Amino acid sequence: MLVNKDRLIATFRALVEIQSPTGQEANLISYVVPRLESAGARVSVDSGGNVIAKIDGAGEPILVCSHLDTVMPTAGLKIVERNGVFYSDGTTILGADDKSGIAVILEAVESLREQQVPHLPVEVVLTVAEEVGLVGAKTLDYSQIVAKRGLCLDTKGPIGTIIVEGPSQVCLDVTIVGKAAHAGMSPEKGISSIVVAAEAISSMPLGRIDEETTANVGMIQGGTATNIIPEKTTVAGEARSRDEQKLEAQVDCMVRAFQVAGDRHGATVHVNVEHVYRAFHLGPNDEIVRMMSEAARKLGLPARMEAGGGGSDTNIFNERGIQSVNVSVGYEDPHSTSEHIAVDDLVRAAELLVAVLKG
Ligand SMILES: [Zn+2]
Repeated sequence: MLVNKDRLIATFRALVEIQSPTGQEANLISYVVPRLESAGARVSVDSGGNVIAKIDGAGEPILVCSHLDTVMPTAGLKIVERNGVFYSDGTTILGADDKSGIAVILEAVESLREQQVPHLPVEVVLTVAEEVGLVGAKTLDYSQIVAKRGLCLDTKGPIGTIIVEGPSQVCLDVTIVGKAAHAGMSPEKGISSIVVAAEAISSMPLGRIDEETTANVGMIQGGTATNIIPEKTTVAGEARSRDEQKLEAQVDCMVRAFQVAGDRHGATVHVNVEHVYRAFHLGPNDEIVRMMSEAARKLGLPARMEAGGGGSDTNIFNERGIQSVNVSVGYEDPHSTSEHIAVDDLVRAAELLVAVLKG
Protein backbone atom coordinates (compact mmCIF):
# COMPACT_ATOMS: atom_id res chain seq x y z
CA MET A 1 0.00 0.00 0.00
CA LEU A 2 1.36 3.39 -0.99
CA VAL A 3 1.38 6.58 0.98
CA ASN A 4 0.92 10.00 -0.63
CA LYS A 5 4.49 11.30 -0.89
CA ASP A 6 3.57 14.84 -1.92
CA ARG A 7 1.11 15.21 0.93
CA LEU A 8 3.64 13.78 3.38
CA ILE A 9 6.26 16.32 2.29
CA ALA A 10 3.74 19.17 2.48
CA THR A 11 2.72 18.06 5.97
CA PHE A 12 6.31 17.82 7.12
CA ARG A 13 7.08 21.31 5.78
CA ALA A 14 3.98 22.74 7.45
CA LEU A 15 4.85 21.13 10.79
CA VAL A 16 8.45 22.33 10.69
CA GLU A 17 7.35 25.87 9.87
CA ILE A 18 5.26 26.02 13.05
CA GLN A 19 7.91 26.62 15.68
CA SER A 20 7.22 24.69 18.86
CA PRO A 21 10.03 24.91 21.38
CA THR A 22 9.09 23.30 24.71
CA GLY A 23 6.26 25.23 26.38
CA GLN A 24 5.11 26.77 23.08
CA GLU A 25 3.32 23.84 21.49
CA ALA A 26 -0.12 25.54 21.21
CA ASN A 27 0.10 26.58 17.52
CA LEU A 28 1.23 23.13 16.54
CA ILE A 29 -1.66 21.58 18.48
CA SER A 30 -4.06 23.87 16.58
CA TYR A 31 -2.65 22.45 13.35
CA VAL A 32 -2.63 18.74 14.23
CA VAL A 33 -6.05 18.45 15.92
CA PRO A 34 -8.14 19.18 12.78
CA ARG A 35 -5.78 17.05 10.67
CA LEU A 36 -6.38 14.09 12.99
CA GLU A 37 -10.12 14.78 13.03
CA SER A 38 -10.26 14.76 9.25
CA ALA A 39 -8.51 11.37 9.34
CA GLY A 40 -11.46 10.08 11.35
CA ALA A 41 -10.07 10.40 14.87
CA ARG A 42 -11.84 11.46 18.05
CA VAL A 43 -9.40 13.98 19.43
CA SER A 44 -8.96 15.46 22.88
CA VAL A 45 -6.28 17.43 24.66
CA ASP A 46 -5.61 16.32 28.23
CA SER A 47 -4.99 18.66 31.15
CA GLY A 48 -1.24 18.48 30.57
CA GLY A 49 -1.64 19.60 26.95
CA ASN A 50 -1.03 16.22 25.33
CA VAL A 51 -3.07 15.36 22.23
CA ILE A 52 -4.88 12.01 22.38
CA ALA A 53 -6.59 10.81 19.19
CA LYS A 54 -8.51 7.58 18.82
CA ILE A 55 -9.28 5.82 15.58
CA ASP A 56 -11.51 2.75 15.54
CA GLY A 57 -10.30 -0.49 14.06
CA ALA A 58 -10.32 -4.22 14.63
CA GLY A 59 -8.06 -6.18 16.96
CA GLU A 60 -5.73 -5.17 19.76
CA PRO A 61 -5.28 -1.40 20.00
CA ILE A 62 -1.84 0.10 19.45
CA LEU A 63 -0.48 3.37 20.80
CA VAL A 64 1.54 5.51 18.37
CA CYS A 65 3.48 8.45 19.77
CA SER A 66 5.56 11.45 18.74
CA HIS A 67 6.35 14.60 20.68
CA LEU A 68 5.21 18.10 19.78
CA ASP A 69 8.03 20.14 21.28
CA THR A 70 11.53 20.75 19.97
CA VAL A 71 14.79 21.99 21.41
CA MET A 72 16.04 25.45 20.47
CA PRO A 73 17.18 27.50 18.56
CA THR A 74 14.16 27.82 16.31
CA ALA A 75 13.83 31.59 15.78
CA GLY A 76 13.70 32.35 12.05
CA LEU A 77 13.60 28.66 11.14
CA LYS A 78 13.72 28.12 7.37
CA ILE A 79 13.53 24.73 5.72
CA VAL A 80 16.07 24.07 2.95
CA GLU A 81 16.03 21.11 0.57
CA ARG A 82 19.27 19.84 -0.98
CA ASN A 83 19.41 16.64 -3.04
CA GLY A 84 16.31 15.15 -1.49
CA VAL A 85 17.34 15.99 2.07
CA PHE A 86 15.71 18.58 4.34
CA TYR A 87 17.95 20.84 6.43
CA SER A 88 17.54 24.14 8.25
CA ASP A 89 19.52 27.11 6.90
CA GLY A 90 22.20 26.28 9.47
CA THR A 91 21.20 28.91 12.05
CA THR A 92 18.49 26.85 13.78
CA ILE A 93 17.57 23.25 14.39
CA LEU A 94 15.26 21.67 11.80
CA GLY A 95 12.82 20.07 14.22
CA ALA A 96 12.59 16.76 12.35
CA ASP A 97 12.98 15.52 15.95
CA ASP A 98 10.13 14.91 16.23
CA LYS A 99 7.99 16.49 13.51
CA SER A 100 9.00 13.69 11.17
CA GLY A 101 7.18 11.37 13.58
CA ILE A 102 4.06 13.55 13.58
CA ALA A 103 4.11 13.83 9.76
CA VAL A 104 4.48 10.06 9.45
CA ILE A 105 1.57 9.42 11.82
CA LEU A 106 -0.71 11.90 10.02
CA GLU A 107 0.17 10.41 6.63
CA ALA A 108 -0.31 6.83 7.83
CA VAL A 109 -3.76 7.39 9.33
CA GLU A 110 -4.90 9.52 6.39
CA SER A 111 -3.71 6.88 3.88
CA LEU A 112 -5.44 4.06 5.76
CA ARG A 113 -8.73 5.95 5.84
CA GLU A 114 -8.55 7.11 2.24
CA GLN A 115 -7.81 3.63 0.90
CA GLN A 116 -10.27 2.03 3.34
CA VAL A 117 -7.72 -0.49 4.52
CA PRO A 118 -8.68 -2.51 7.64
CA HIS A 119 -6.37 -1.73 10.54
CA LEU A 120 -5.91 -2.00 14.28
CA PRO A 121 -7.58 0.47 16.64
CA VAL A 122 -5.06 3.31 16.88
CA GLU A 123 -4.42 5.60 19.84
CA VAL A 124 -2.29 8.51 18.69
CA VAL A 125 -0.50 10.32 21.51
CA LEU A 126 1.37 13.55 20.80
CA THR A 127 3.18 14.66 23.92
CA VAL A 128 4.31 18.08 25.09
CA ALA A 129 7.60 18.89 26.86
CA GLU A 130 9.38 15.66 25.96
CA GLU A 131 12.70 17.45 25.60
CA VAL A 132 12.80 18.67 29.19
CA GLY A 133 12.35 15.34 30.99
CA LEU A 134 9.51 13.46 29.29
CA VAL A 135 7.04 15.70 31.11
CA GLY A 136 4.09 15.11 28.77
CA ALA A 137 4.40 11.32 28.88
CA LYS A 138 4.65 11.47 32.68
CA THR A 139 1.50 13.57 33.05
CA LEU A 140 -0.49 11.89 30.24
CA ASP A 141 -4.08 10.99 31.14
CA TYR A 142 -3.58 7.21 31.09
CA SER A 143 -7.25 6.65 31.95
CA GLN A 144 -7.91 7.39 28.26
CA ILE A 145 -5.39 4.85 27.00
CA VAL A 146 -6.48 1.30 26.34
CA ALA A 147 -3.49 0.06 24.30
CA LYS A 148 -1.05 -2.32 25.93
CA ARG A 149 1.51 -1.99 23.13
CA GLY A 150 3.09 1.12 21.71
CA LEU A 151 5.45 2.65 19.21
CA CYS A 152 7.33 5.89 19.69
CA LEU A 153 8.50 7.39 16.41
CA ASP A 154 11.41 9.28 17.82
CA THR A 155 14.88 8.08 16.98
CA LYS A 156 17.50 8.24 14.27
CA GLY A 157 19.14 5.60 12.14
CA PRO A 158 18.10 3.58 9.10
CA ILE A 159 14.34 2.98 8.80
CA GLY A 160 13.70 -0.39 10.44
CA THR A 161 15.82 0.46 13.49
CA ILE A 162 13.98 -0.64 16.64
CA ILE A 163 15.19 0.50 20.05
CA VAL A 164 14.27 -2.46 22.25
CA GLU A 165 16.22 -1.48 25.35
CA GLY A 166 16.63 1.86 27.07
CA PRO A 167 18.60 3.06 30.07
CA SER A 168 17.56 4.34 33.45
CA GLN A 169 18.55 7.91 34.12
CA VAL A 170 19.37 9.61 37.41
CA CYS A 171 19.98 13.36 37.75
CA LEU A 172 22.10 14.83 40.52
CA ASP A 173 21.78 18.39 41.80
CA VAL A 174 24.59 19.26 44.16
CA THR A 175 24.91 22.31 46.38
CA ILE A 176 28.26 22.93 48.07
CA VAL A 177 28.44 25.57 50.78
CA GLY A 178 31.88 26.61 52.01
CA LYS A 179 32.78 29.88 53.66
CA ALA A 180 33.36 33.29 52.11
CA ALA A 181 36.45 35.30 53.00
CA HIS A 182 38.61 37.99 51.39
CA ALA A 183 40.89 36.20 48.97
CA GLY A 184 43.78 38.62 49.46
CA MET A 185 43.57 39.52 53.14
CA SER A 186 42.34 36.35 54.85
CA PRO A 187 42.12 33.38 52.50
CA GLU A 188 42.81 30.96 55.36
CA LYS A 189 39.44 31.93 56.89
CA GLY A 190 37.56 30.80 53.80
CA ILE A 191 36.44 27.43 52.44
CA SER A 192 36.30 27.38 48.66
CA SER A 193 33.24 25.59 47.35
CA ILE A 194 34.81 25.70 43.86
CA VAL A 195 37.85 23.77 45.08
CA VAL A 196 35.53 21.20 46.68
CA ALA A 197 33.61 20.83 43.41
CA ALA A 198 36.83 20.55 41.39
CA GLU A 199 38.27 17.86 43.67
CA ALA A 200 35.05 15.90 43.68
CA ILE A 201 34.57 16.04 39.91
CA SER A 202 38.18 15.15 39.11
CA SER A 203 38.02 12.13 41.41
CA MET A 204 34.88 10.52 39.96
CA PRO A 205 34.61 8.31 36.88
CA LEU A 206 32.78 10.13 34.06
CA GLY A 207 32.03 9.59 30.39
CA ARG A 208 31.50 6.05 29.16
CA ILE A 209 31.75 3.93 32.28
CA ASP A 210 31.04 0.64 30.52
CA GLU A 211 29.08 -0.65 27.56
CA GLU A 212 25.73 0.19 29.17
CA THR A 213 26.60 2.97 31.63
CA THR A 214 27.45 6.65 31.11
CA ALA A 215 27.94 9.63 33.44
CA ASN A 216 28.35 13.36 32.97
CA VAL A 217 28.72 16.56 34.95
CA GLY A 218 26.97 19.06 32.71
CA MET A 219 26.65 22.32 34.62
CA ILE A 220 28.59 24.17 37.25
CA GLN A 221 28.02 27.58 38.74
CA GLY A 222 29.73 29.23 41.65
CA GLY A 223 31.46 32.23 43.13
CA THR A 224 30.77 35.94 42.98
CA ALA A 225 34.10 37.74 42.42
CA THR A 226 37.81 36.97 41.97
CA ASN A 227 38.68 38.49 45.34
CA ILE A 228 36.20 36.41 47.35
CA ILE A 229 36.68 32.78 48.35
CA PRO A 230 33.56 31.29 46.76
CA GLU A 231 31.00 30.27 49.36
CA LYS A 232 28.45 28.53 47.17
CA THR A 233 28.75 26.32 44.12
CA THR A 234 26.07 24.26 42.42
CA VAL A 235 26.79 21.33 40.17
CA ALA A 236 24.39 19.31 38.04
CA GLY A 237 25.12 15.95 36.55
CA GLU A 238 23.56 12.71 35.45
CA ALA A 239 24.21 9.01 35.10
CA ARG A 240 22.49 6.43 32.88
CA SER A 241 22.63 2.70 32.62
CA ARG A 242 20.54 -0.11 31.22
CA ASP A 243 21.49 -2.00 34.40
CA GLU A 244 19.93 -0.64 37.59
CA GLN A 245 22.69 -2.00 39.84
CA LYS A 246 25.45 -0.44 37.78
CA LEU A 247 23.53 2.82 37.80
CA GLU A 248 23.19 2.72 41.56
CA ALA A 249 26.92 2.02 41.94
CA GLN A 250 27.83 4.93 39.65
CA VAL A 251 25.49 7.35 41.42
CA ASP A 252 26.85 6.27 44.83
CA CYS A 253 30.35 6.89 43.56
CA MET A 254 29.47 10.41 42.39
CA VAL A 255 27.63 11.30 45.59
CA ARG A 256 30.49 9.94 47.72
CA ALA A 257 33.07 11.97 45.76
CA PHE A 258 31.22 15.19 46.65
CA GLN A 259 30.86 14.19 50.30
CA VAL A 260 34.51 13.16 50.69
CA ALA A 261 35.75 16.41 49.13
CA GLY A 262 33.30 18.41 51.26
CA ASP A 263 34.48 16.67 54.45
CA ARG A 264 38.13 17.21 53.57
CA HIS A 265 37.58 20.97 53.40
CA GLY A 266 34.84 21.38 55.97
CA ALA A 267 32.18 22.39 53.45
CA THR A 268 28.59 21.21 53.63
CA VAL A 269 27.38 19.24 50.65
CA HIS A 270 23.78 18.56 49.75
CA VAL A 271 23.03 16.17 46.91
CA ASN A 272 19.55 15.76 45.47
CA VAL A 273 19.17 12.53 43.49
CA GLU A 274 16.22 12.16 41.14
CA HIS A 275 15.30 9.05 39.17
CA VAL A 276 14.13 10.61 35.88
CA TYR A 277 13.07 7.43 34.10
CA ARG A 278 13.50 3.67 34.32
CA ALA A 279 15.18 1.23 31.98
CA PHE A 280 13.26 -1.16 29.74
CA HIS A 281 14.34 -4.42 28.17
CA LEU A 282 12.42 -6.05 25.35
CA GLY A 283 13.48 -8.72 22.90
CA PRO A 284 12.54 -10.40 19.61
CA ASN A 285 9.84 -12.47 21.30
CA ASP A 286 7.91 -9.52 22.66
CA GLU A 287 4.73 -8.83 20.70
CA ILE A 288 5.47 -5.22 19.72
CA VAL A 289 9.00 -6.13 18.55
CA ARG A 290 7.62 -9.03 16.56
CA MET A 291 5.00 -6.75 14.91
CA MET A 292 7.62 -4.19 13.95
CA SER A 293 10.09 -6.75 12.61
CA GLU A 294 7.35 -8.45 10.63
CA ALA A 295 6.23 -5.16 9.06
CA ALA A 296 9.83 -4.24 8.20
CA ARG A 297 10.38 -7.61 6.55
CA LYS A 298 7.25 -7.16 4.44
CA LEU A 299 8.71 -3.93 3.09
CA GLY A 300 12.13 -5.49 2.53
CA LEU A 301 13.73 -3.37 5.24
CA PRO A 302 16.22 -4.96 7.62
CA ALA A 303 14.75 -4.87 11.15
CA ARG A 304 17.68 -3.79 13.30
CA MET A 305 17.20 -4.26 17.02
CA GLU A 306 19.33 -1.89 19.08
CA ALA A 307 19.88 -0.83 22.66
CA GLY A 308 19.41 2.91 23.04
CA GLY A 309 21.49 5.30 25.12
CA GLY A 310 18.87 8.00 25.54
CA GLY A 311 15.56 8.38 27.28
CA SER A 312 12.31 8.87 25.40
CA ASP A 313 8.58 8.64 26.01
CA THR A 314 9.14 4.90 25.40
CA ASN A 315 10.67 4.59 28.88
CA ILE A 316 7.59 6.09 30.51
CA PHE A 317 5.10 3.98 28.51
CA ASN A 318 6.94 0.81 29.52
CA GLU A 319 6.89 1.97 33.16
CA ARG A 320 3.13 2.42 32.77
CA GLY A 321 2.67 -1.12 31.49
CA ILE A 322 2.41 -0.28 27.78
CA GLN A 323 4.98 -2.52 26.12
CA SER A 324 6.73 -0.07 23.79
CA VAL A 325 9.69 0.34 21.48
CA ASN A 326 11.18 3.41 19.85
CA VAL A 327 11.52 3.27 16.07
CA SER A 328 13.55 5.34 13.64
CA VAL A 329 11.93 8.01 11.50
CA GLY A 330 15.23 8.73 9.76
CA TYR A 331 16.28 12.09 11.21
CA GLU A 332 20.01 12.59 11.75
CA ASP A 333 22.06 14.92 13.97
CA PRO A 334 19.09 15.85 16.20
CA HIS A 335 19.55 18.73 18.66
CA SER A 336 21.99 20.48 16.34
CA THR A 337 21.87 23.05 13.55
CA SER A 338 22.97 20.35 11.09
CA GLU A 339 19.88 18.25 11.83
CA HIS A 340 18.49 16.76 8.61
CA ILE A 341 16.24 14.09 7.16
CA ALA A 342 16.01 12.45 3.74
CA VAL A 343 12.65 12.60 1.97
CA ASP A 344 12.96 8.92 1.04
CA ASP A 345 13.36 7.96 4.70
CA LEU A 346 10.29 9.95 5.65
CA VAL A 347 8.31 8.05 3.00
CA ARG A 348 9.69 4.67 4.08
CA ALA A 349 8.89 5.45 7.73
CA ALA A 350 5.28 6.22 6.78
CA GLU A 351 5.02 3.01 4.74
CA LEU A 352 6.44 1.05 7.67
CA LEU A 353 3.93 2.55 10.08
CA VAL A 354 1.09 1.73 7.68
CA ALA A 355 2.33 -1.86 7.53
CA VAL A 356 2.35 -2.12 11.35
CA LEU A 357 -1.09 -0.57 11.75
CA LYS A 358 -2.56 -3.02 9.25
CA GLY A 359 -1.79 -5.64 11.91
ZN1 LIG B 1 12.76 13.46 20.13
